[in-house]
Amino acid sequence: PRHLVLVLGDQLDRHSAAFDGFDPDRDHVWMAENATEATHVWCHQQRLVLFFSAMRHFRDDLHAAGIEVAYHALQADGRRDSGPDFASILAADIRRLGPERLIVLEPGDWRVWRMLQETADQLDLPLEVRPDRHFYCGIEEFDDWATDRKRLVLEDFYRHMRRTHGVLMQAGGPAGGAWNYDADNRESFGRNGPGELPRAVSFAPDALTREVIELVAARFGDHPGRLEGFDQPVTTGQARQALADFIAHRLAGFGPWQDALWTGADLVHHSRLSAALNLHLIDPREVVGAAVAAWEAGEAPLNSVEGFVRQILGWREFVRGIYWHDMPDYIEHNALEAQLPVPASYWDGDTDMACIADAMRNVRDNGYAHHIQRLMILGLFAQLAGVHPRLFHDWHMAMYLDAVDWVSLPNTLGMSQFGDGGIVGTKPYCASGNYVNRMSNYCRKCRFDHRRAVGENACPITTLYWDFLDRHDERFRGNRRMVFQIRNLDRKREDPETMATIRRQAADLKTRIAAGESV
Ligand code: FAD
Repeated sequence: PRHLVLVLGDQLDRHSAAFDGFDPDRDHVWMAENATEATHVWCHQQRLVLFFSAMRHFRDDLHAAGIEVAYHALQADGRRDSGPDFASILAADIRRLGPERLIVLEPGDWRVWRMLQETADQLDLPLEVRPDRHFYCGIEEFDDWATDRKRLVLEDFYRHMRRTHGVLMQAGGPAGGAWNYDADNRESFGRNGPGELPRAVSFAPDALTREVIELVAARFGDHPGRLEGFDQPVTTGQARQALADFIAHRLAGFGPWQDALWTGADLVHHSRLSAALNLHLIDPREVVGAAVAAWEAGEAPLNSVEGFVRQILGWREFVRGIYWHDMPDYIEHNALEAQLPVPASYWDGDTDMACIADAMRNVRDNGYAHHIQRLMILGLFAQLAGVHPRLFHDWHMAMYLDAVDWVSLPNTLGMSQFGDGGIVGTKPYCASGNYVNRMSNYCRKCRFDHRRAVGENACPITTLYWDFLDRHDERFRGNRRMVFQIRNLDRKREDPETMATIRRQAADLKTRIAAGESV
């Protein structure tokens, strides 16, 4: 062939720039299921199903359109795999097919980009990397925006994006008169709970997905996560149905309950669109457009629609910009010098902490947790204990269906663990068990007491919260957004005996986490 167009598992978009000028008579597509990713990284079984199933559906669509695809499927018995890793399978195919040029869309992972470049260089073949139009903001465009700014702040970037793309704008200003309706978006479910929450539309596995489920059961059945119950969208058509379902049933409640937690409420009013978006099964403009249209039609309030748009047009684009702006150095950051491994319960869900247990059940059953479970439960506990941010990122990459390097890394290492020392966020998201109690019902039936930092029933989050502030006191004292917390720490320190007990009890928790014991 003239061109070999490489399509990676998170680039499943027939309209991407990789297909610009594609000539079915002269060009081929190349795709490979990545055995390295499956075997070297301990990875959730549903994550493998999602990627391989969506890739096989995409392959079949290309075939149906008369496009030649060199596709490397993993085999259930493992013996007939095409090669040990991505680079060697690709190199063998390049030798076999003899293309004049390789074409690929900007990969979502810095290391993959480098690996492709090295493979092409070794074979003395041109590699053309095309900009990924899926995103509103290009990599260079973000760099231009970032140049000469003292700090990269989401709010500035988000407003810039709203203006540039004319989203939720009226008469030159923000729709409704404000950029931000966060004050309306901090409800909990109070004492009585949410009642019956809307469920997400469920997609029963078709024959192709069942084939992949059997493959994963046979080869990766000892990997974490539950395989049963996989019901994610794996095609563009299904992703559109999932979007319509969210708009009709959950968007209106998205804003107010954005931060709420409740036992068994795996989704609350969240969209569950991240995996479909990150595999590029659906375009963010379509998602944002549908939410804005719902507001215009009077079907959803502005605080919900703005809150939702902010996640996609703001946060999602912002973290991608930061990733490419700061890689490869970014992954090396460990500002708080955290060294612990990820707690054992993050793999098996086995813990007496009701909040962690509920979030981990969601992760195990669905390869998913909603944002507040990620940030204010699993992320919070890891941060307070001092889990190494890169290990936290590796764990996240393994366990979530929507994890791709560009989005997982800034969220885990940056936003959640403050490992970047304040690039993504301006302060660490740290809180005690009181926060968890206020936003959820977890603490009511928990064996630990969220108010107690010391003693047998002390809440590990509360103990570690004080220890965390105490450890990092010097760094945070100058942060204007931490004044309140530091003042409380100073008050706590007026009782040196309690403080010493907290330190001792925190050290014990950390020793147990380091030893892989259940906490
Ligand atoms: P919703 O709450 O319905 O939000 C709508 C969409 O907005 C999401 O689908 C997502 O595309 C986007 N979005 C929201 N917040 C963010 C954010 N902080 N960064 C980027 N996009 C955002 N998101 C991922 O897509 N992949 C990840 O690997 C990932 N890792 C995370 C790790 C941690 C520790 C934290 C705190 C957050 C992470 N996020 C990640 C962001 C966010 O939690 C998920 O996008 C969201 O929970 C996905 O569920 P949803 O589709 O129901 O989202």
